[in-house]
Amino acid sequence: MSILDQAEELRQKAIALLVQERQAIDQKLSQLGYDGAPRELKRSCSNCGAADHNARRCPKDKTTESAAG
Ligand SMILES: [Zn+2]
Repeated sequence: MSILDQAEELRQKAIALLVQERQAIDQKLSQLGYDGAPRELKRSCSNCGAADHNARRCPKDKTTESAAG
């Protein structure tokens, strides 16, 4: 067995250990209700398309016809 084979074997073992840890962590996270995906607001402004506000708070006027509000 060459030194490269040994290094590769160590690398695979390290990866396997980390995967086990990650699975254990994922299991605990799922028990806490964490689904693993970042909680991003999918909704964006339907008026201008910006993601930092919705259509109600849009600085741009959707309708210029009615000024009464
Ligand atoms: Zn907007």
